[in-house]
Amino acid sequence: MSTQLLWFRNDLRSKDNQALSAAVASGKAVLAVYTLCSKQWQQHDLAPIQADLILRRLTQLREDLAALNIPLLVLELEGYQQVHECLLSLCQQYQITEVYCHYQYELNEQRRDQAVEQALSQQAIGFHRYHGECIVRPGQVLTKSGENFKVFTPFRKAWLASLSEQSYSPLGSPKAIDKSLLNEQLLSLLNHPQTINCNYPRVDSSAWNCQDQQIIQQLRDFSASKANDYHDLRDMPALNATSKLSAYLALGMLSARQCLARIYLDHAEAIASQQGGAFTWLSEIIWREFYRHLMAVNPQLCKGSAYLTWTESVSWQDDEHLLKAWQQGKTGYPIVDAAMLQLKQTGWMHNRLRMVVASFLTKDLLLSWRDGERWFMQHLIDGDFASNNGGWQWAASTGTDAQPYFRIFNPTTQAQRFDPDGEFVRAWLPELANIPGKHVHTPHTWANKHGVSLNYPLPVVDHAVQRKQALLLFEQAKNKA
Ligand code: FAD
Repeated sequence: MSTQLLWFRNDLRSKDNQALSAAVASGKAVLAVYTLCSKQWQQHDLAPIQADLILRRLTQLREDLAALNIPLLVLELEGYQQVHECLLSLCQQYQITEVYCHYQYELNEQRRDQAVEQALSQQAIGFHRYHGECIVRPGQVLTKSGENFKVFTPFRKAWLASLSEQSYSPLGSPKAIDKSLLNEQLLSLLNHPQTINCNYPRVDSSAWNCQDQQIIQQLRDFSASKANDYHDLRDMPALNATSKLSAYLALGMLSARQCLARIYLDHAEAIASQQGGAFTWLSEIIWREFYRHLMAVNPQLCKGSAYLTWTESVSWQDDEHLLKAWQQGKTGYPIVDAAMLQLKQTGWMHNRLRMVVASFLTKDLLLSWRDGERWFMQHLIDGDFASNNGGWQWAASTGTDAQPYFRIFNPTTQAQRFDPDGEFVRAWLPELANIPGKHVHTPHTWANKHGVSLNYPLPVVDHAVQRKQALLLFEQAKNKA
């Protein structure tokens, strides 16, 4: 009896997994594999904390799959070049006739899959791919003239109009496979699971869940108790007002469809009327889809290009000292420094602060958004190429539907508006803990007034001066175009 191969990639879940459900529905034995390419992880700047979460999740997933009588193999390979050979040899070893997986839309992953498809088809092995990363697959949300959207709001409208009943109906976990279908080889894998080893550096991710039950409970709790206030509170970093589900969505431990189904179940009216906190939250899920759709049709984004080609002429500065100050949270702008410490110490940063620090890097320090994009990938638990690139290009004014280059955040007024009592800043910068209220955002002014000496850096740049310089750099680039 032949076996089916289920290839896990960025879809580390057993619920709402179309590839898994299809493989099980074949009525044959299923072997699952995860190909771990540490060289690729390095090239993609995968954060050690995210690597740790992936490895913890794989151990959990192996248990979830074992309950379905599906053994999971984790194979460490050097890079993507080895993947097609590795899959072919598995197919020979286990008499595999069909391979199932989900689409990935990044350029390298698409190229890897082309090589796999070709190699498998030469051996008459079927290759079945499903769209599980997005609720609506890339290429399905188009303008009336069949173009891809470049602006979010009309994209959202068309995206919402394209939803079908299926979009709200995540799949459950499939039924267990009849154990009698497993041959000796598969039974042995099932009964003697290998230890999952990997030399990639790891940083403890145990503050993040890796079990389905906990993740789904987190989604339910957010939907039940926080979604209503999301619109009003989501920009306040001192409050725990967002879902903190991004790491799970980035690794496919949770599907976007599970999110839509839950929010719709609890807030059907708000979603239908397109108002209120739950709809604002759904809009964020749609931003995630927007950036994926953009990436799928603009492969140059995966090669590091700016979406707006004229912005390639912006003369970003090259200043190692300023870059280090930003990375280490020593810019002398408390909101920026507190946010950068939150990232370094937890692997996560609040969305409002991602916008503030990205704007600061590009418009105040005049450093390239690519430096920031890379640093984020190296440290984020939720590092996700499409959302990260989209967020950075939005903040740097190089992306589609980005912040216009002449609208520049003032980091101090952003801080006063979104952290009005300075609670967030004081939590991350103990050296400023004694400065009361909003004065913590202008610590040296307060310290001078009160004759206090501070162990905190002076601002590395003057915002008013740098703002003018940023405008000049963009205008010069525009004139060159
Ligand atoms: P919630 O506010 O609860 O939102 C729910 C979900 O919607 C998130 O989990 C996420 O999957 C999605 N989402 C929310 N905001 C956005 C957005 N602006 N763009 C795309 N998807 C969004 N998000 C990542 O998942 N990975 C990244 O690498 C990443 N890098 C970013 C870099 C910059 C410069 C900026 C400005 C934003 C970035 N974001 C990224 C988007 C956003 O900041 C995070 O998704 C969000 O802060 C995660 O917290 P949460 O799960 O509590 O989000």
